[in-house]
Amino acid sequence: MNKGSGKRLNQYVKDYVVFDLETTGLSPETDEIIEISGLKVRNGKVMENFTTLVNPDRPIPYSATRINGITDEMVQSAPLLKPSLNEFLTFIGNDILVGHNIHSFDLNFLRNGARRTLGQSIQNDYVDTLFLAKICLPQLPRHRLTDLAAHFHIETKGAHRAFNDCVMNQLCYEKLGMLLENAKENTAPGQALPTCPKCGNVLIKRNGKFGAFWGCSSFPSCRYTQNA
Ligand SMILES: [Zn+2]
Repeated sequence: MNKGSGKRLNQYVKDYVVFDLETTGLSPETDEIIEISGLKVRNGKVMENFTTLVNPDRPIPYSATRINGITDEMVQSAPLLKPSLNEFLTFIGNDILVGHNIHSFDLNFLRNGARRTLGQSIQNDYVDTLFLAKICLPQLPRHRLTDLAAHFHIETKGAHRAFNDCVMNQLCYEKLGMLLENAKENTAPGQALPTCPKCGNVLIKRNGKFGAFWGCSSFPSCRYTQNA
């Protein structure tokens, strides 16, 4: 696995950078980043933002433009990946990163790009709101960012451009955070979202050989369990 590349956290933190990328396709090996956006959040409030188009130095396939609306013309005079990433890494510093599906998608592009162009690794811990949403809102049939936004009555206009997705994602993360905090305070029996006393991540109900139990959602890095 990615040693030294940051831990996935399933919890609410008040200080973080929420980010999103647009790309020419799905493969971090053969596709390129064409837009990077981020919002720096302190105590749940957006303090600073970052957004840049990136010139991928190759044509953008129509399959990508159809989704994000970014054309060759738009990136023609944009900076290349190296200076863009350099600036973005300065922006994020050591912050915890938050994003939707970043565990399987955006972080791979970011790590690959940083290694290739700057010889750097990305070691920030991170929260993937896709994982968190599946834990907090198991009743939803789908957990795309637009599904969460619809559930929380958050505006979805302009989805699939990096900056708009960051704004949407930040609001969704704060809502998920409220669900988690409420669950922590509400100690009524049968509570759906207890948290791990060892690491602070959400506990998930699991079924074992000897019946149901609560296990830490960051298993296997945390092995805490308690009786259901
Ligand atoms: Zn734990």
